[in-house]
Amino acid sequence: MEELNQLIKLIDKHKRSNPYLGYLNISIGNNLHEPLIKYVQSFGKKVLFCTGNTAMRNLGFIKKYNALFNKYKFDVHHYDNIFPNPTLKQMQEGIFFAKKIKPDFIFALGGGSVIDTAKAISVGMYGNVWDFVEKKANIHHSIPIVASSTTSGTGSQVTPYAVITNTDTLEKKTLKHPLLIPKLSIADVSITRFAPKYIVATTGFDVLCHAVEVYTREDCSETAEEFAKNALMLVRKHLVRSYNNKGVKHKLGMIYADFYAGIALALVGTHAPHAIAHPISARFPLINHGQALAYIMADTIQTQKEKKNDALNKKFIKISQLLGGNGDIVKTIRNYTKSLELNRKLADFSAHDAELVIKDTLGYRRESIRKSPVNLSEEDIASIVYNSLLTSKNG
Ligand code: NDP
Ligand code: MN
Repeated sequence: MEELNQLIKLIDKHKRSNPYLGYLNISIGNNLHEPLIKYVQSFGKKVLFCTGNTAMRNLGFIKKYNALFNKYKFDVHHYDNIFPNPTLKQMQEGIFFAKKIKPDFIFALGGGSVIDTAKAISVGMYGNVWDFVEKKANIHHSIPIVASSTTSGTGSQVTPYAVITNTDTLEKKTLKHPLLIPKLSIADVSITRFAPKYIVATTGFDVLCHAVEVYTREDCSETAEEFAKNALMLVRKHLVRSYNNKGVKHKLGMIYADFYAGIALALVGTHAPHAIAHPISARFPLINHGQALAYIMADTIQTQKEKKNDALNKKFIKISQLLGGNGDIVKTIRNYTKSLELNRKLADFSAHDAELVIKDTLGYRRESIRKSPVNLSEEDIASIVYNSLLTSKNG
């Protein structure tokens, strides 16, 4: 409870100067199921219930939520055709399904993939999602979203972003709009605690990267810095312990880390590491988001550090210390990837694949490369990708 009060206090403190924070409505705890279902009655009766198709079913949560929706007399329509690294095509199927139902609101129960799909459906009811991504059309309407994040996490439960893979253009792009911010952002440790080790590692590493990238951006505000630092301190205390299953306390700690980092992300945004990681998952959908980041994070930071920008390098030292290191950020990051067993090699990645990732990063992700606190040249990006991804070199 104390942690929740602290988070809400920090949000309240900065609400006036940051309208985004005023939109947030957060619920974090243990076994929140029934009170939440009661609460969401205020959003209407007809609910589109979005989930993935494996974990939540196997763990019995789909059954549990369906029973609760029925108990409170919702008109519930379940949609579970959602997979990791969701594609535009899958999202369009979800939109087709939703258009027939015309729900009052969407209840998303899942990781970033499920929440992002719910977001795409929410605005896709009123226009073409890819046109929204490409800014060929403007978003004016959305269906309210309630997002219960089952991973810790992507921050998607609090961000105005949805990440979408277009399998025709082989691009992984981000849709942004304030209407994508969920009306209620939930994390329930009785659900997140079941995430398998590999998911704890990859999603926890994503949290770490969100905090590091926000903090190191030149346009990082004091407010965002405060959220990012809180996230880093929580990552230090809880990430590796959560990975090693040292009790629910650490799972809860990572929920908070995810919220702090997610809010920081919504306030500022990412830069080079995410700009390189998205093209990797776009070309290789089986590589999940946090794993893609783990491949390239240390080498990206190493390259940025070598640019000898004093302000940035001071921040890197601070970050390393907040994460429990001795000031050497590259070593600190490598220790995390090692402790989380994310330092494995990427098999079957060819020089041709590397060229494609470099082209995409410098192409459709160039805007986020430009947000790097130090200028990264084409050669820099190429050497990061080659050094971190090619098997012969990354050992
Ligand atoms: P996913 O949502 O892809 O989930 C990964 C896997 O974990 C799935 O197989 C899922 O099961 C399973 N799983 C989820 N929760 C649990 C649980 N509690 N117990 C057991 N298994 C569980 O992972 P992420 O959360 O990492 O989301 C990744 C996506 O989010 C990427 O597309 C990424 O780009 C995006 N992203 C979005 C951001 C945003 O602001 N919108 C920011 C950063 C990343 P099942 O298959 O049943 O669903
Ligand atoms: Mn991310």
